[in-house]
Amino acid sequence: MTTLEKLTILADSAKYDVSCSSSGSNRSATYNGIGNASAPGICHSFADDGRCISLLKILFTNACMYDCGYCINRNSNDSIKRVSFTPDELVDLVIQFYRRNYIEGLFLSSGVLRSPDYTMEQLIQVVKTLRVRENFNGYIHLKGIPGADAKLIREAGLYVDRMSLNIELPTSQSLRLLAPEKDRAQIIEPMKLIREEMASYRVDAKKFKKAKLFVPAGQTTQLIVGATPEPDYMILRISEAFYQKMKLKRVYYSSYVPVGRVEGVVPYGIHSLQREHRIYQADWLLRFYGFKASELLNEEAPDLDLVLDPKAQWALRNLHLFPIDVNRADLMTLLRVPGIGTVSARRILAARRLAYLDFDGLKRIGVVLKRAQYFITCKGKMLARVDENPMFLRQLLADGNTQLNLFDLYPKQFGGGHERLSI
Ligand code: SF4
Repeated sequence: MTTLEKLTILADSAKYDVSCSSSGSNRSATYNGIGNASAPGICHSFADDGRCISLLKILFTNACMYDCGYCINRNSNDSIKRVSFTPDELVDLVIQFYRRNYIEGLFLSSGVLRSPDYTMEQLIQVVKTLRVRENFNGYIHLKGIPGADAKLIREAGLYVDRMSLNIELPTSQSLRLLAPEKDRAQIIEPMKLIREEMASYRVDAKKFKKAKLFVPAGQTTQLIVGATPEPDYMILRISEAFYQKMKLKRVYYSSYVPVGRVEGVVPYGIHSLQREHRIYQADWLLRFYGFKASELLNEEAPDLDLVLDPKAQWALRNLHLFPIDVNRADLMTLLRVPGIGTVSARRILAARRLAYLDFDGLKRIGVVLKRAQYFITCKGKMLARVDENPMFLRQLLADGNTQLNLFDLYPKQFGGGHERLSI
């Protein structure tokens, strides 16, 4: 089989993995080397379905010995051709693509070939050859293979910018059901190891100018949403724990894509892509807006409303905290106002050092009031006074001005019986 045929098959097999993004690494070009990775990340572009396509995103092999029910490459799926690269083939491909300016980096994942250790050794050979023999300084994101020996994970971390081990499913029970060969500990332990190695290499980097780097762009993971029944609340709590305890850079969420019929898999929720979008928004609130998972959802209302963004949902449940005075509120309070993002909040703080802000002043500095107007005051006045009925406000805040049926679609958060909404 030609390299082009392998490329076609293995790039296609890799497209379901969403945990790639290149931000955060900073390596300059070296003398006699090629490529560099800059702090803002290499250029990204995204396919229509939102997946990152800026890197050469490829599997080393799709001839996987495991049988994960959510994966197109599972060994019981007879509908795909099985192929593998050799390490040299893959290195050559990356260099040729780089020289032609097709790519600026590599996202390398793999099915499990022969054993986790053997697969990890092959992947290490690829990244080591790129770095050492080819002097390749471009961005490399490598997927760690669960179950591989700790010393292989350690070695791989010396050659790549970012590593990820996919947690895949929220609970051990779901993992046992859909990925029986995988064990949660095989995923969590390497994550801990990477976290600890990163911390210790960072200490060295402060002391020694030429200290080696270990996974300098951090680690990420991926969770599949909708293959198993875990609610959004559980997913957000898991992500929160990963951010706090494992110091992950990102948790990526991948809406379950049914690939053939699999025993034990019942796709949960017919709105998977919209659900994935809402979970990403909530994840953003955890990382940049100071929210906790328990503020956004709870056991009684465990799923995000598909019609409203999570911040608006929170605001409607906490109307007693509003309106806030934009001339007095601190940064974290401003960030909780629907429609005010990090840029607007910082502009407000900067502008009000110079003058007392009114609504015209807010518009002049670029604050969009369409949603915020219901939650703020300027000089003691509100721009729009609304009925305090949260359902009426919900209608005003709904994405795309969706016309809601207030009775049929009354969400659980407000005492209704529907767990998910149709739009
Ligand atoms: S280990 Fe599981 S998720 Fe990974 S390629 Fe194999 S079947 Fe797919």
